Amino acid sequence: MQRVFVLDKNKNPLMPCHSARARQLLKQGKAAVFRQYPFTIILKERNGGDVQPVTLKVDPGSKTSGIAMVADFKQGKRVIWAGELTHRGQQIRDRLLSRRQIRNSRRSQKTRYRAPRFLNRRRAGGKLAPSLQSRVENILTWVERLRRWSPIDSLSMELVRFDTQLMENAEISGVEYQQGELAGYEVREYLLEKWGRKCAYCHATDRPLEIEHITPKSRGGSNRVSNLTVACHKCNQRKGSQTAAEFGHPNIQQQAKQPLKDAAAVNATRLTLWRRMDNLGLPLEVGTGGRTKFNRVKQDYPKAHWVDAACLGESGERVYINPSYAPLQIKAMGHQSRQMCRVDKHGFPRTSPKQGRVHFGFQTGDMVKAVVTKGTKCGTYIGKVSVKAKGFFNITTPTGTVQGINYRYCAPIHNSDGYLYEKGEALSSATTRVAVSPRQIQ
Ligand SMILES: [Zn+2]
Repeated sequence: MQRVFVLDKNKNPLMPCHSARARQLLKQGKAAVFRQYPFTIILKERNGGDVQPVTLKVDPGSKTSGIAMVADFKQGKRVIWAGELTHRGQQIRDRLLSRRQIRNSRRSQKTRYRAPRFLNRRRAGGKLAPSLQSRVENILTWVERLRRWSPIDSLSMELVRFDTQLMENAEISGVEYQQGELAGYEVREYLLEKWGRKCAYCHATDRPLEIEHITPKSRGGSNRVSNLTVACHKCNQRKGSQTAAEFGHPNIQQQAKQPLKDAAAVNATRLTLWRRMDNLGLPLEVGTGGRTKFNRVKQDYPKAHWVDAACLGESGERVYINPSYAPLQIKAMGHQSRQMCRVDKHGFPRTSPKQGRVHFGFQTGDMVKAVVTKGTKCGTYIGKVSVKAKGFFNITTPTGTVQGINYRYCAPIHNSDGYLYEKGEALSSATTRVAVSPRQIQ
């Protein structure tokens, strides 16, 4: 179980506590439930308290971002809360595409004269596409929310895949730097990025790639990145002790000598996120993807978005992760639709304007608990409700959707806030590996 967020009576965040402690406080009547997802309690009497330093670490991903809160206790660093935030980039893209197509078809019909409009869609420089912008906003929303419920005093995020500065020095200083183990991870990430994550010889993407010397070491080839590329096992074997030119790929050597530009290493979304996080006024640590992987592999943790978040940067070197922890799965759902009514295939209004969204005190996206006592649908259902004007709701539970549940059976447990919540899978059930105990990592 993860820790539970605790607020004092003035809603100031205290140190998150163990779930057993929270249960005890609730039972004794000293606390009340403040929020269901993530579970937060509010103390009725206490005001203020001791807090330890807590770092919020974020590993931004294209589909899913990992979030981990790491507390710095006397016995070492420890993950106290974790979540995985799923973005809706593709959905936004699809919806904007369909809107554009509908508008296009509607406006290309011969209905009435419209003055031509053109060159009026220019975005101000440096703005992100809506699907990417939503990723940044999702993460910032959660950084701000978590700051409200827990005593976060520093931030950490993965900014780049690999350290370009180190890589550039590597081009000059070469071998010494690359002999370090950490450097190996950075070099690998660099090469994967540079060669587009495919075999340099056969362009295969669906198999593991190996680091390959363009001029083989046996023939005096160096370890510098300008002599390295990525290749699949088969090509690597077949090439043997030939140079790339002898193997029939004369361009490879030339390509390898061109250093990767900075812009390719930092993508625009992460850069925007970094600027916005920096504006929050907390100390911000940045890490590289190579470093994250190095830390994770060193500590023998399995791959997961939230584990990556915990392991990122210099502070991720020694972090204890409880193997029974299950991250909270947070899925961005958006808020309603801005379309005023549904349209037919020609893009013209098909239905009446949309009605109010609240029915019988519920709105679509709320989490409810329904205890049905009569009829064929007898049972208890906890999940996301989808409201209907007639009062018979659909409830989506982790096991499936039940339809036609009367609103009278429903009790609200969490108001819609644009996200859907589910309990994630624990580390120990995802893998048989057992994480090291805090003593071992001392
Ligand atoms: Zn190949």
